Amino acid sequence: MGIDGVEGMLRVTPWTTKQDSIIRELGHLGAAAVAAAIEHECGIVRSIHSIECRASRIHASLRVQQVCPECGVVGLRLNRQSGLCPKCTEILHLNEAKAFNELLEAERAAASDAGEIEALKRENAMVRKRNSRTCRKYGLRTMRERPRGGQDGLDSPLDGSL
Ligand SMILES: [Zn+2]
Repeated sequence: MGIDGVEGMLRVTPWTTKQDSIIRELGHLGAAAVAAAIEHECGIVRSIHSIECRASRIHASLRVQQVCPECGVVGLRLNRQSGLCPKCTEILHLNEAKAFNELLEAERAAASDAGEIEALKRENAMVRKRNSRTCRKYGLRTMRERPRGGQDGLDSPLDGSL
């Protein structure tokens, strides 16, 4: 455990490469964060002032910059609504648009199915009406009057033999 500072008779704790790299890597979080990291990782208490002096000496910036919580990029302006960097904001919007697109596709499919079903119903009613008119006109047995599966009956209506 070292003690920072040069005042009095206290020993000066030398700066290590490790501490310098912490300043360079975490400088964008500010001097206080750097001090906390140095204490945590190196067991050495450094004052804000000494960190500022050291940062100045090794030409490292302590200016606090925004960090994108999504990708961790430093120094880019974060979008006020998304709280993310421009790229992550675009990715977010793209994903939202894609999700909405999927929803619309599903709704569109359902809507077009509904339209098709209506058209099939109308066609069905029309053909049935035409059939019953033909039965009446020529005295033929109606579909209901015929035994199912019989010689002159109807096969399964969906087997394509109609
Ligand atoms: Zn980002």
